[in-house]
Amino acid sequence: MHQYLLPGEAAKQLEDLLQQVRSSTHNFLGYPVSKDFDYTPLLPFLQFPMNNLGDPFVSSTYNVGSREMEREVVAFFAKLFRAEAHNWWGYVTNGGSEGNLYGLYLARELYPNGMVYYSESTHYSVQKNLHLLNMPNIIIRSQENGEMDYEDLQNAIRINRHMPVIILANIGTTMTEARDDVRQIKSILKDMAVRNHYIHVDGALSGSYSAFIEPRPAFDFADGADSIAISGHKFIGSPIPCGVVIAKKSNRDRIARSVAYIGSMDTTITGSRNGHSPLFLWYAIQRMGEAGLKARAEHSLRMAAYAVEQLRENGVEAWRNENSITVVFPSPSIEVIQQWQLATENGYSHIICMPNITTAQIDAFVKSVTLEHTGLVC
Ligand SMILES: *Cc1c(COP(=O)(O)O)cnc(C)c1O
Repeated sequence: MHQYLLPGEAAKQLEDLLQQVRSSTHNFLGYPVSKDFDYTPLLPFLQFPMNNLGDPFVSSTYNVGSREMEREVVAFFAKLFRAEAHNWWGYVTNGGSEGNLYGLYLARELYPNGMVYYSESTHYSVQKNLHLLNMPNIIIRSQENGEMDYEDLQNAIRINRHMPVIILANIGTTMTEARDDVRQIKSILKDMAVRNHYIHVDGALSGSYSAFIEPRPAFDFADGADSIAISGHKFIGSPIPCGVVIAKKSNRDRIARSVAYIGSMDTTITGSRNGHSPLFLWYAIQRMGEAGLKARAEHSLRMAAYAVEQLRENGVEAWRNENSITVVFPSPSIEVIQQWQLATENGYSHIICMPNITTAQIDAFVKSVTLEHTGLVC
């Protein structure tokens, strides 16, 4: 334990934490977090005060950072999300929530009198962001599978037709991983002749792999999105929470003018920004490439199909949305929920078949759920 260079008690505390983190990481199936990464080649970078403060596309005098790699990460996702050539911009955030905050902030600067619409299945952090930004908003009903109810959306817009429309679309809701159809939303806006509109896509989990699915879900810039946020520590995997936000450069330039007005050209949200997390994402992209990421997605989808099949064969009413890696089923006992760290809401729980999941893990999970079903476990 002396390797920590700490007094005995503190060293023990740290050692205990390591054991605890190790064992809790081993057994979780309920959270959308990949754990199959190995960034040890990047360890030497922990010895430096890396900081990417400011806009990654504007040069800075602080040179201890990873801005060049950050720009490559942004470029990779801009291309994957079919952003218009030369009209994209973005940065590596502290997570999906910051990316959503950024997208909504852009929308508010463009349409200060806009009304925000989002479904009741939306992640709780969106409401927090809307509160911070002081943006009026309307919650839209969800369909049974968690996808936005488009008729309810249309009715809500009709009532507020005089206001610009800002939509937060989910590409993968938190509980059922439902995808709102961006093309359909766009056609509703067109039908209703809404000229001023903005669509931000919350793709925290599924946004990172939807581009690899066939048929390709309607979620990106070519489908009508104005900005897209994803989490980096979910599908890709990272020891530090992070994410990526991609927006249209033309929109970013418009708000840059308003920021210049307050004496700064920094269009990002925080001051100092993590200089290590872009390195993790860059490293993952370099190692896996599009082909590797696609293979990861396909593995996850196969595992999800397997989990549904096994659970149903054992009498558990499991289901999943088409081409999603989240498997939903009636909540098991509190013991099973705790054992596998299952997220639970309104009587339903889910497991998320992240790329590191194996059939053996699914089998063990199915066993613990079905044993209890037949009353063999007390
Ligand atoms: C996880 C998640 C978020 C929040 O992302 P963080 O990276 O945890 O900040 C937002 N929306 C959805 C749908 C999520 O699943």
